[in-house]
Amino acid sequence: MIISFHGAVGCVTGSCYLVTCGKSRFLVDCGMFQGNKVLKQLNYREFPFDPASINFVLLTHAHIDHVGLLPKLVKKGFKGPIYATTPTVDFVKLLLPDSARIQQSEVELKNRRSERKGVDVVTPIYDEADADAACKLLKGVSLDKESRPTTGVSVVFRNAGHIFGSSFIEITLQEDGKSKKIVFSGDIGCVGHPIVKDPEFFSDADYLLIESTYGNRIRENDSNEDRLKMLADAVNGAVTKKGNLIIPSFALERTQDLMHDLTILIDRGSIAETEVVIDSPLAIDATKVYAKFPEFLDEEATTLLKKQGKLFDNGRFRFSKSSDESKQLNNESGKIILSASGMCDAGRIKHHLKHNLWRRDSTVLFVGFQAEGTLGRMLLEGAKSVRIHGEEIKVEAKIVQIMGYSGHADQNGLFDWLKPVTAIRDRIFVVHGEDDSRTEFARLLEERRGFKVETPGLDSGFDLLAVKECIPATLIAGLGKVAPAIVPAAKPAPTGVTPPVAPPRRVPIQPQMPKRDSYNLYADLSLRLADFMRRTTDEESRRKALETLLAGLPRGS
Ligand SMILES: [Zn+2]
Ligand SMILES: [Zn+2]
Repeated sequence: MIISFHGAVGCVTGSCYLVTCGKSRFLVDCGMFQGNKVLKQLNYREFPFDPASINFVLLTHAHIDHVGLLPKLVKKGFKGPIYATTPTVDFVKLLLPDSARIQQSEVELKNRRSERKGVDVVTPIYDEADADAACKLLKGVSLDKESRPTTGVSVVFRNAGHIFGSSFIEITLQEDGKSKKIVFSGDIGCVGHPIVKDPEFFSDADYLLIESTYGNRIRENDSNEDRLKMLADAVNGAVTKKGNLIIPSFALERTQDLMHDLTILIDRGSIAETEVVIDSPLAIDATKVYAKFPEFLDEEATTLLKKQGKLFDNGRFRFSKSSDESKQLNNESGKIILSASGMCDAGRIKHHLKHNLWRRDSTVLFVGFQAEGTLGRMLLEGAKSVRIHGEEIKVEAKIVQIMGYSGHADQNGLFDWLKPVTAIRDRIFVVHGEDDSRTEFARLLEERRGFKVETPGLDSGFDLLAVKECIPATLIAGLGKVAPAIVPAAKPAPTGVTPPVAPPRRVPIQPQMPKRDSYNLYADLSLRLADFMRRTTDEESRRKALETLLAGLPRGS
């Protein structure tokens, strides 16, 4: 009985955990790495296990960093069912083809540049056909109902309150007459978040994997009214300046949260008359899923639905689906534009930022978590200029942030979620957080609750019955369908037989995941260099500085 950690350890993205129990092997989530380029490159590497040997997959929720590599898993040989709640299934069917299209177009753009530079071109991680094949394997399950995907494994999905249809999963594993209960938190939401019901709880487990996105942060001014007031202020401030208000927003949940709150503010007459453009075909389609599963809506949203007959329906909303409609927005002013991706690292939002960041009259409003190394994080940290699609863009727009939309419980929220837990019989694995966040949260879990806590490294594993860290058998290349027991590294091999060798982990065992990678630094250097050339007119000073820089670099071939 082994669990191994193949993503979201030391970072918030790429969630993927492999569980081996007797003859079965399954994944919980299969997400894409997002953030800086070093992290993103992990998406192109081989899985450190054989996808064809996985029997099934369980999904906690429909965020790309939890489901985004499913098409790659299928491309590499996975054929089993993928279980998720019914809204998650509908969302994933929208997300995966969209993700394939985004990658194909980004790779095309990158390859055109690479060809011009004479460097190697890349192929997309997967294409739309792989995404469609993955979607065919999806199977909807109900919340709170026990199911047995295979012998020795029973599973219950429970509401996690993070996004519509999100879940945490309680799993009971049986092997050799022994039983272990393991809980995967997925992403845990906040109490009082719009549209979704508050998270449910669990009582006990042998092992818990808990997210720690905000494990070291306590958010102030987090009430519904605080959030509405801040949104009204941001809208009214931007409208007064007569520029655009650009809101980078995840297509699922965050866009609908904003539409929900904007509807309330329009109804109350609290915001100036202005058009709200939803510039994300995915967000437009996702909005329909909410109406399809009213049993997942919270009380407030149910009332709104009953009152209006439709959710998110408002005369001031305009939906922009085609890319021509989207391009049209480049020449407009005085609009509120909601567009994806939420961390500004892909999609249409990059175009809107390119056309608005340099404008003094525009405002960019952040409403979600921005991972290290993303364009969103750089803007929040006060970058004076940024690079978008290889072009330097000066940042003159006003940058503001509202934390109240976060779909993640903060430190207090995570402890509240653990309040009803009477026992974690063995230990907690703290995952899904940047290292400073999860180490701090791990320390507090030990200090306040006396739990035994681990912060596992990428591609490391743990033997749940032997209670020890192991090199998971899953890491051994070329395994068949069944994972053998852990291969002891020191055991002499019988003559004539080559012992299986574990391939190196994708990064060292306890990595400090890179916060700013070499690509971030390269971008900084080129921006600073351009700025230096602009500001320095004296030829002598320019030449000296450039010669010093060049002296530190090896000569090109
Ligand atoms: Zn999430
Ligand atoms: Zn997540």
